[in-house]
Amino acid sequence: MSKVYNFSAGPACMPEWVLQKAADEMLNANQSGMSVMEMSHRSSDFEKILGDAKDRLRRLMNIPEDYEILFLQGGGSLQFSMVPMNFNKNGADIINTGQWTKKAIAETKKLGKTHIAASSADDNFTFIPKITQDDLDPDTDYVYICENNTIYGTKYKNLPPHEGKRLIADLSSCICTEPINVADYDMIFAGAQKNLGPAGVTIVILKKDMLEQQNENIPSAMLDYKTYVDNNSMYNTPPTYGIYMVGLTLEWLEDVIGGLEEMEKINHKKANMLYDYIDQSKLYSNPVNPQDRSYVNIPFVTGNPDLDKKFVAEAKERGLVNIKGHRTVGGMRASIYNAMPVEGVEALIDFMKEFEEKYA
Ligand code: PMP
Repeated sequence: MSKVYNFSAGPACMPEWVLQKAADEMLNANQSGMSVMEMSHRSSDFEKILGDAKDRLRRLMNIPEDYEILFLQGGGSLQFSMVPMNFNKNGADIINTGQWTKKAIAETKKLGKTHIAASSADDNFTFIPKITQDDLDPDTDYVYICENNTIYGTKYKNLPPHEGKRLIADLSSCICTEPINVADYDMIFAGAQKNLGPAGVTIVILKKDMLEQQNENIPSAMLDYKTYVDNNSMYNTPPTYGIYMVGLTLEWLEDVIGGLEEMEKINHKKANMLYDYIDQSKLYSNPVNPQDRSYVNIPFVTGNPDLDKKFVAEAKERGLVNIKGHRTVGGMRASIYNAMPVEGVEALIDFMKEFEEKYA
C-alpha cells in the first residue's frame, strides 16, 4: 500500500521529515558508526542526544529554569499512579472529563483522599466543567486535569482556579500543539506517542519545589520523581531510541515548522476546516460544546451506526485510515495531531463530501 493519511489517536502519524532523518541515520548516527539503538546510554553520543532533546523542549515550550524535564517510561498510565504516590498528602481535587481522568481517579483513590471537584459524566463528557474555587476541597494538595481528552475531543481553553494548590495536568494529546505558559502549572506529563514521537517515552515537566513537598516512603526508586531528577533520567536504562525520536520531532517543530506559535496556526486551520464542514453538513455532527472543542481529536457521527461502519470501511479504501471512534463513543474520530498535514484534512473533507452526497 502506498502512504496513507493516518488518523490514529496514538501511536499516531509522524512527520515524514522525522522518519526520513531517522532512516538516514539508522545505520550510522552522528558518525558514531552505529545506530542510536546500539549506543550505550552512558556514552557521550547518547548523552548529547538526551541533552539536545531537553534543550530543545525547554526552548520550544519556554520552560523556566525552576522546572525539571524528565524522561520516564510507563506511559500516561503510570503517571496516574505516580502523581498521587508522590504528591497526594492531604488529598487531590480531580475534574472528571472522561476515560483518562476516570483512570487517574481510580489510582488516586487507592492512595489517598480523592475529591471529584466537577464532572461532565452526566452529559457523556461533551463539555469541560467550569469550576470556581468553592468547588475545591479546601484541604487538598493539588488540582488535577486532563487538558485535552483524546476520546471525547474536549479541550480546556482556560485553566481551572487552584488558589493555594498545585496544578497537575495530563497533556498527553496536546503537548506542543500550541504555546502554553508552563509557569501556570506545577507539573505536566505526556506520553510521546501522539505529538512528539513513538510510544515508550513519557515526558514530565516538574516544578523543582514540588520535590520539597513529596510523600516519604515511596515504595520504589523507579516510582520516585526525585530519582529521575538526581540521575538526569538515567537511573536505569532510559528508552534511548524513543528519546532520540522525540529529539528529532522537536527539531522538526523548531527548525522546519518554526516553533509552537506556527504549529498552533496550522493546528487551528486544520481543526477549523473540519469543524466548519461538519457544522454545515446534513449528515455529520460533533457533539462537543463548541467552546470546549479539541483542536486535535475530532469525533463525529452520522447518527446511524451502520452508516458509520460503512464510512470507516470506505475511507480506508481511500487511504484514510484509523478513523474509527473509540469503542466507548462509537462513530468516527479524526486525530489530526501536529504531524497530520493540511492536505490530509483536505482529503478527509473531500471524502466526507462525496460520502454525504451518496448517502445523506
Ligand atoms: N492520557 C491521555 C489524555 C491519553 O490520551 C492517553 C492514551 N491515549 C493516556 C493518558 C494513557 O497513556 P498511555 O497509553 O501512554 O499510558
